[in-house]
This record gives sequence, structure tokens and C-alpha cells, in this order.
Amino acid sequence: MAIAVYPGSFDPVTLGHMDIIERTANMMDHVIIGVLKNNSKSPLFSVEERVNMLKSVTAHLPNVEIQSFDGLLVDFTHQNHANVIVRGLRAITDFEFELQLAQTNRVIAPDIDTIFLTTNLKYSYLSSSIVKEIAGYQGEIKEFLHPEIVKRVREKMQEKMAQAN
Ligand code: ADP
Repeated sequence: MAIAVYPGSFDPVTLGHMDIIERTANMMDHVIIGVLKNNSKSPLFSVEERVNMLKSVTAHLPNVEIQSFDGLLVDFTHQNHANVIVRGLRAITDFEFELQLAQTNRVIAPDIDTIFLTTNLKYSYLSSSIVKEIAGYQGEIKEFLHPEIVKRVREKMQEKMAQAN
């Protein structure tokens, strides 16, 4: 069985992430999306919210499962009996960090391989941070996110504005 872990913050999941998830699901027997808990980036959405959003946009993919995790990625990968870690590469700027991460993981867990999927050109500019920045200024975000996620981001921004006032 080829079991892959696709880790990330997914704060929130974008169409770029969705593209990687769908392509991975086509290649692997089973895919576990690992949503990172201990995030130094102080996320907009709680880990439970991020897990639930991912569940709702991957409901059509029977071999995709969502879990949250903290601690070492290789430990999470072993716990799930997975042998592959998947990462998306958008641009050369992603490469240095991703290579370092993959090589370190390979030293501590030689039985796990990291594979990289190059992003769909359509989404090569897209990141969760850019989407949050646009949404923070009430900009249009529907080109970047699944309609369900657009709704949740708008609700969250309204909540935050109400709290600030
Ligand atoms: P992290 O905090 O680990 O960077 P992200 O949620 O930002 O988590 O990203 C998770 C994974 O998805 C990473 O491998 C990242 O390179 C990839 N990714 C993010 N945005 C895109 C995109 N637009 N197209 C393809 N891959 C992407």
C-alpha cells in the first residue's frame, strides 16, 4: 500500500492545496492530510476549524483522511504507517527550505521518502497568507478558495472585526 502524508498549516486550505491533494489521491492508495497544531505563525483558524474545512472540501475523495498533529512529522508519518511525505513546490523560493526539510527527515527516518509536486501554474502565486491579507481588507477571494472556504473566511473576518469594535 502506498500511503502518503501531506502536511501543512492549511490556514485556510486554498485551491493550490486542493490541486496537490487531488493529484496525490490519484497516485496513492491512501492520503492523510496532517494539519499542524503547534504553529508559530499564530493561525487565523483553530486546528479544529482547519480540520473541519479540509473534511468538507475533500468529502468527494474516498481515500483522503484528515488528522491534526504536533511533534515531528516523521513520527506522525510512522504512526500512520505511511512511507511517503508529499510537499508542493510553487517557486524556486520554496526549494531551499523544502530541500533542507526533506534531507533532514531522510536522515532521521531513512524509510520515508519525500516527493514534491510542482504546483499547477494557475496557482503558483497562491498562498494562505496572501488570501488572508486580501480578506482582511474585504477584497475578493473567490478565485483562490473553494466556495465553502470563502464563506468561512468571510465569517471569520466579520467575527474578528466585531471583536475589534
Ligand atoms: P506550511 O506552513 O507547511 O508551509 P502550508 O499550508 O502553507 O503549510 O502549505 C502546505 C504545503 O502545500 C506545502 O508543501 C506548500 O508548499 C504547499 N502549497 C501551498 N500553497 C500551494 C500552492 N498554491 N500550490 C501548490 N502547493 C502549495
